[in-house]
Amino acid sequence: MPVYEYRCTECGHTFDALQRVGEDGSQLNCPKCKAGHPEKLFSAFASSGGSEASFGGSSAGSSCGPSGFG
Ligand SMILES: [Zn+2]
Repeated sequence: MPVYEYRCTECGHTFDALQRVGEDGSQLNCPKCKAGHPEKLFSAFASSGGSEASFGGSSAGSSCGPSGFG
């Protein structure tokens, strides 16, 4: 399953999310400020060559079932 990177247009926070077939990123929400309609970034897998990519680093959140909002 392809993972795409998105950037919040409100706070500028970048996060990655799974992009399903037939779905759009407009349904996603910023995990930081809960803002909608994030900006889709170029996937690091698609572009090959000398490009600055940040591997490792911040990885917060727990994958254990659906998390409710507040
Ligand atoms: Zn945000």
